[in-house]
Amino acid sequence: MQALVKTAPGKGNMELQDVPVPVPQAGEVLVEVVRSGVCGTELLVHDDLYRGRNRPMPFPLIVGHEASGLVVELGPGTTGPRPRTRVALEGVSGCGACFHCLRGSYNLCQDWHHIGLTRAGALAEFVTVPVSSLVLLPDEVSLESAAMLEPFSNAVHTLERLRPAPGQPAAIIGPGPLGLLNLQVLRAAGAAPLVVLGRQGDESRLELARTLGADVAVVADRKAAQERVAELTDGIGMAIVVEAGGTSEAVQTALDIVAGNGSLVTLGLARSTEIDALTVVRKNLTWLGVVAAVRRHYAEAIRLVRSGKVELERLITHRMPLADAEAAVPTMRSGDAVKIMFAPGA
Ligand SMILES: [Zn+2]
Ligand SMILES: [Zn+2]
Repeated sequence: MQALVKTAPGKGNMELQDVPVPVPQAGEVLVEVVRSGVCGTELLVHDDLYRGRNRPMPFPLIVGHEASGLVVELGPGTTGPRPRTRVALEGVSGCGACFHCLRGSYNLCQDWHHIGLTRAGALAEFVTVPVSSLVLLPDEVSLESAAMLEPFSNAVHTLERLRPAPGQPAAIIGPGPLGLLNLQVLRAAGAAPLVVLGRQGDESRLELARTLGADVAVVADRKAAQERVAELTDGIGMAIVVEAGGTSEAVQTALDIVAGNGSLVTLGLARSTEIDALTVVRKNLTWLGVVAAVRRHYAEAIRLVRSGKVELERLITHRMPLADAEAAVPTMRSGDAVKIMFAPGA
């Protein structure tokens, strides 16, 4: 089968290869991948910037963790859904025994497995996953939407932690896939006005943000963002700020524009950033981090897709056969792409 493989550590070393179809072990299921998306994590893996938890990335590694497909076959002695059942794949699985796993927070397990990071991923024609990682789909959820449930569940998790009140102003910094997914859930939750801030080169993503319901979607540096937000909120600032830009400036801008008593979420993967920590005190802020998602977020994500309140497919800007998978990284970097969706069976 064809698969996109990170062959070795170091920058690059990612290529389309012909590899054997995996065989499901006990507790696992073989899934035929129908749709498989790419996100910023694959860029980090490509550039050798991804740093996992305790468990190292194995090489060679098939990448990809946002996927949907059809059940093919269960491992020996394993019970699970019948062949041809439509499924999405949950990215994270925990050890099942640590403090966080026992509490159901296996997104915090230090010994986690993550498809496409610690075990073979889904930018391939077939993938094996633990049966417990299958998410069964109602008929109304297409396999294309289902391939986006993994990142969307993270946005649902963010919403769960933010609990916005209707009519609270919210800003999203960074109009990438995660930013636009957060825009859609915040809109469904009634936050308003919704402001999306981007950088030079984000123009087409900002245009998409407007069609998805952003009241204001503009290119703005730190100073322009502060001015625009002051103007929109009578100088008060945004009750909610979601930082999905992943840059140092995005984090700084978020702190600048969040209102007193506001909530700030950092989702971007910026590392060291110079901030005035006193701002957190002076503004009486709630600063949240959100990592991955667990099963209840998938359930809620499916409910939202089913209700029509969010339209995940509208984020797909590129559709490609898996044979073109090596183009994923340069296309992602181009700024024109929001979500690139591969059709491995095609
Ligand atoms: Zn992802
Ligand atoms: Zn654990």
